[in-house]
Amino acid sequence: MPDDSLPGPCHLCGGLRGTRIDATWVCADCTWRYGDVPDADLSLPRVDVVYYLRFDRRVKIGTSRQPRRRLARIRHDEILAFEPGDRTVEQRRHHEFATAREVA
Ligand SMILES: [Zn+2]
Repeated sequence: MPDDSLPGPCHLCGGLRGTRIDATWVCADCTWRYGDVPDADLSLPRVDVVYYLRFDRRVKIGTSRQPRRRLARIRHDEILAFEPGDRTVEQRRHHEFATAREVA
């Protein structure tokens, strides 16, 4: 499916490219569904993202509000996933993946 321009920047990662699936735009970078607003009650965008990176055989889990900038500075082989979430989610994932994660 060809990538195209989102109606506006992705709420999650700020990406501009997306794919239209039926009536829904999906960000090409983080697969966020365009139009899903993480914090609808707040006027200012406040988006915490938990990211999962693979480097060699390790998985790095972290939180950032600017995942694109953050990931540009972290050495990694592959981006495994993003999910909307804050430090609470990150801590929970650290426990879940305690045997696999890299100590930051
Ligand atoms: Zn995105």
